[in-house]
Amino acid sequence: VKSEGRRGFRFFESEMDEEVRSRRAFEADLMAALSRGELELHYQPIVAASTREPVSFEALVRWNHPGAGLLSPDRFIPIAEDTGLIVPIGRWILRKACSDAMSWPAHIKVAVNISPVQFRTGDIVDVVASALRETGLEPGRLELEITESVLLQKYDWDFSLLHRLRDLGVAVVLDDFGTGYSSLGYLKEFRFSKIKIDRSFVAEVSGAGDSGAIVCAVAGLARTMGIDTTAEGIETEEQLQLLRVAGCTQMQGYLFAKPRPVGALDFKTTGIRRR
Ligand code: C2E
Ligand code: CA
Ligand code: CA
Ligand code: CA
Repeated sequence: VKSEGRRGFRFFESEMDEEVRSRRAFEADLMAALSRGELELHYQPIVAASTREPVSFEALVRWNHPGAGLLSPDRFIPIAEDTGLIVPIGRWILRKACSDAMSWPAHIKVAVNISPVQFRTGDIVDVVASALRETGLEPGRLELEITESVLLQKYDWDFSLLHRLRDLGVAVVLDDFGTGYSSLGYLKEFRFSKIKIDRSFVAEVSGAGDSGAIVCAVAGLARTMGIDTTAEGIETEEQLQLLRVAGCTQMQGYLFAKPRPVGALDFKTTGIRRR
């Protein structure tokens, strides 16, 4: 647009202004969202592959935006990360998830996504420790889901934060496995409690490509290491069967349940379709 000369350039500038203004307004709204109680956690079950019974529920944040309705995390988490708002928001999410789980059956865990930014700036170990202390949740019931991008950060990353988290007694889970380049390498650096195989593999597992073989190899490796593997994004019975055969021990996806508000959770659902 810049090369279109003066008029075009000005048009470009005013469009930029407009964009900057609406982005600022969105950021201000997001900052207020927390204190206004507009953030909500929905929960999706993670079920045992063998029984289809829930073993854990993953907290997935939504923003009940006054004008725009229920916004998915992809719409605002990246902005929360850019602005640093993810630190107070993430603290709230952890505390709320732990507190919600206190009223669930004691064998059911709660999984919380942790942003790389919380590792960089948020004193994550203290934040997790205080969420546990303030809610009384047993540490063994909390699973922290981190993606490879946490491990890719270009500062002195030495896995000590992960060790300190594990020393609290919580599970440290490697999320979105297979979407990065060095996933396998990290498995020997740190003993994760569980690996979540990314939905992109699950979606392709019935196709002609190598996804099936890769999932089999990863699940086999995990079994050798004595840890669980969750297959994400299971939508069909066929995918469930293939991933079970591949050796995944836990399943998550719309086949079992979509994320739901905390009041609507079913701790018994097996995901078998009723007619
Ligand atoms: P994720 O951690 O990989 O979460 C799984 C996403 O897949 C969720 O999307 C979930 O609703 C969706 N999903 C589950 N089963 C299926 C299925 O069978 N089919 C399809 N198509 N999708 C399925 P959601 O809730 O929109 O969250 C998107 C991402 O936002 C999450 O990906 C996570 O990276 C991030 N996120 C969500 N909640 C939080 C949070 O509390 N904190 C942080 N830092 N990030 C969050
Ligand atoms: Ca996750
Ligand atoms: Ca994931
Ligand atoms: Ca994902």
